[in-house]
Amino acid sequence: MNKQATHAGAVLTIDLDAILANYRLLRQRAGAAQCAAVVKADAYGLGAGLIAAMLAADGCRHFFVAHLDEGIALRPHVPTDADIFVLHGPPVGSDTEFLHHRLIPVLNSTAQIVAWRNLAQRENKMLQAVIQIDSGMSRLGLAPAEVDAWLDDPAFLNGIAMRYLMSHLACAERREHPMNALQLANFKAVRARIPECAATFANSSGVFLDSDFHFDLVRPGAALYGIAPIAGTANPMHPVVRLQGKIIQTRHIAQGDHVGYGVSYCASNPRTIATVSVGYADGWLRSASHRGMAVIDGIGVPQVGVISMDTITLDVSDIDPMRLLPGMSVDLISNERTVDQVAAAAGTIGYEILTSLGARYHREYIGGNLLPQNVNDTNAAQALFAQGKALTI
Ligand SMILES: *Cc1c(COP(=O)(O)O)cnc(C)c1O
Repeated sequence: MNKQATHAGAVLTIDLDAILANYRLLRQRAGAAQCAAVVKADAYGLGAGLIAAMLAADGCRHFFVAHLDEGIALRPHVPTDADIFVLHGPPVGSDTEFLHHRLIPVLNSTAQIVAWRNLAQRENKMLQAVIQIDSGMSRLGLAPAEVDAWLDDPAFLNGIAMRYLMSHLACAERREHPMNALQLANFKAVRARIPECAATFANSSGVFLDSDFHFDLVRPGAALYGIAPIAGTANPMHPVVRLQGKIIQTRHIAQGDHVGYGVSYCASNPRTIATVSVGYADGWLRSASHRGMAVIDGIGVPQVGVISMDTITLDVSDIDPMRLLPGMSVDLISNERTVDQVAAAAGTIGYEILTSLGARYHREYIGGNLLPQNVNDTNAAQALFAQGKALTI
């Protein structure tokens, strides 16, 4: 959906070259392991088709999505020799779809394994799958007792060609967290019993742990999109997203005047307030009310009052009035105001900020020279892009 830049309340700029640089950094960190790209939830809200096509052009051949439909949507965007893994496995009753679209399920439970085994028998061929085990997070994957039952039963994976043994880290963004070593030990213990199988364990944060965590394939998502992989240290990733909201109007308020729903903000002295056309319906989370901040020409301007559905109000008293005319922009996410800082103000994580980014924004892609010319994108703007102009969707 093309929201024209002049019509939209905010402009979201996505830097494809920054994503590419992040991929290369992760690939380098991964050493001998291969580097997949996790592009679930539309590549954390940034556009899975384009991003996957670009990373495929840089040699990426492993893509992870969460849902079957995400895999089906991704398939035309990546080369035929690229693997698409579906983290949730086959939804009951839809397993043949995986064969039609050449998707590889992650099998997370004995029930999913039995269904896949039965399909292999019906099709009379070996079917590929990733087998996930639970190493301590208790979310998805075979429990230890199920793993024991599997390893005691030589027929358990009949008809299944296991591509990877997989597990997922619960606390990897905290290097020193004892869960990391515990999960690693649990994972290694299972892997030792099926030594010929390749293994995948690390998410973005896991890539920045010791190389023991890397195994054969790492699975970063968030770090590709600029989110800091390790808590409490400088972020090595390149910022990917810029969000610029537009000023609708500016007003002067006197001491004692209130702002917003519930009149929860009261001016203690005369202030200038700018109203900007971004709100919680755009994923600008209401939980950041009274805590958020925007930036105008490098100067931080606090958000005051509660966040509305379509607007926020900023205290812009320190800004030159000529910089506050209707239509002028304020940075909501930028190099100076990172996704992680925005998230902290809203009491959440960068992942939720990106995946909440609104559908009403005008989206603009910059960079991306590596994008193949024949990228199968639905938008005619691809032609513009091929001429070196910004691609807008
Ligand atoms: C989302 C997800 C990833 C990617 O995690 P990031 O922290 O975004 O790098 C990897 N593996 C699994 C199983 C996931 O669900």
